[in-house]
Amino acid sequence: MSCSCGQPEISERRLCEQHFSDWLENKVKETIDEYNMIKPGERVLVAASGGKDSLTLLKILKQCGYNVTALCIDEGIAGYREKTLADLQAFCAAHEIPLIIRTFKEEKGRTLDEMNSKHPCTECGIYRREMMAAVAKDFDVIATGHNMDDEAQAILMNVFKHHKLKPKPVLAGNDAYKRKVKPLYFIPEADVRRYAFIHNLISEFTECRNASSSHRRAIQKFLENRELEKPGAKEMLVRNYLAQL
Ligand code: SF4
Repeated sequence: MSCSCGQPEISERRLCEQHFSDWLENKVKETIDEYNMIKPGERVLVAASGGKDSLTLLKILKQCGYNVTALCIDEGIAGYREKTLADLQAFCAAHEIPLIIRTFKEEKGRTLDEMNSKHPCTECGIYRREMMAAVAKDFDVIATGHNMDDEAQAILMNVFKHHKLKPKPVLAGNDAYKRKVKPLYFIPEADVRRYAFIHNLISEFTECRNASSSHRRAIQKFLENRELEKPGAKEMLVRNYLAQL
């Protein structure tokens, strides 16, 4: 099967590599515009792990001419963070993007591994938020690489476990935290992954080993099954959620 331009299609969207990339980049730009996420001249701090989402986000924001700086919080998770950090450093060097690195070891005295926590994701989240808020003082807005799957999962996690996650495209700032925006909000994870591979943004797919034990994983499986039964289910969930705000 071919894209309308005659090139081989690479996804169920029936688009070739070039037109798929154009589609995804345009959708991100439309989301930024629709939600007035980034105003002209603002200094954007991109929360960057070096994974597919943050590198896709950095690439598109830089391409659009935004004033971006990447921030990586290195929690100290052996076998994971060092790989994504290497990809991030290479990407930022190649695209002339300033990169700030903060580590749990330096700021909290121990790596996440050394903390040996029963609930590593909870501690990880608290410390990362604190450290990010401190760096963000010198910026106007924080951009994160949350994709549509992340947000659909967060919506259901809130329902099932009374979490206080905030699955909105824009989170207003206050005295303690800068405004947070999610330009990949309407991009499914599979499309972000495809884009990252097309553009050689990541050397391999890696995932934090703590992710598999999280409540999020169960929700993720539920949503994957639902999507198989009813394609578009995740997008419907996210859009219905937004319509009710
Ligand atoms: Fe931190 Fe948990 Fe995410 Fe790993 S999965 S990076 S421990 S929040």
